[in-house]
Amino acid sequence: MRYLILSDIHANLTAFEAVLRDAAPFDQIWCIGDIVGYGPNPNECIELLREYDHICVAGNHDWASLGRLDPEDFNPDARQAALWTQRQLTPANMDYLARLPVRIERDGLTLVHGSPRQPIWEYILYSGMAAANFPLFETPYCFVGHTHTPIIYQEVRAGDIISAIPLEAPYDEPFPLGEDRLIINPGSVGQPRDGDPRASYVLLDLERKEILYRRVPYEVSRTQAQMRELGLPARLIARLAFGW
Ligand code: ZN
Repeated sequence: MRYLILSDIHANLTAFEAVLRDAAPFDQIWCIGDIVGYGPNPNECIELLREYDHICVAGNHDWASLGRLDPEDFNPDARQAALWTQRQLTPANMDYLARLPVRIERDGLTLVHGSPRQPIWEYILYSGMAAANFPLFETPYCFVGHTHTPIIYQEVRAGDIISAIPLEAPYDEPFPLGEDRLIINPGSVGQPRDGDPRASYVLLDLERKEILYRRVPYEVSRTQAQMRELGLPARLIARLAFGW
């Protein structure tokens, strides 16, 4: 089985379609949350994802668009986009988001949007945070999103002390899933924040026991034009071109 692992689509249909084209053929999509928020196509992205055999966990923006999180917890641009998304979503798509679990375990892997410790909110930004989260999942590997930054953390155990080594995402070369436990972030489809505007995702091959990081260019200006037309915040439009 070949799985397409993706996170943080953020209602960017043009980026999502580019990823689907680049990743094909695959057997199933594993989505790590934040299908909506920020971008111009929340309904279209949910509906396209649902055309595929897939599993998905909820992210903070998915919850915000349901009114489950206080929009005041978001910065002003994210808040404006969250409230706009709330008004756009069809009842059927709201219902879909409302049923998403916050954590899934499948085939020896754990999926959470933020972290095993706090699936909706915690950002695993540093090795110390990764180290603190390794004891909080049972499986050898865990996929997370939320930071929009592709990275792998490798667990290191010395007696009772657990630490984590950050590894740069190895693009376009298969990375073997071996003995070491890992926390793997595929980066973001719809709003990368690592200085590279191209959509980021991972392919998982369970027979070969390896992952493959991929980067795909998409028509950023198309998404930006849609956002401008819809009156979404200028800063959110600008950042897509720079990948921050
Ligand atoms: Zn996100």
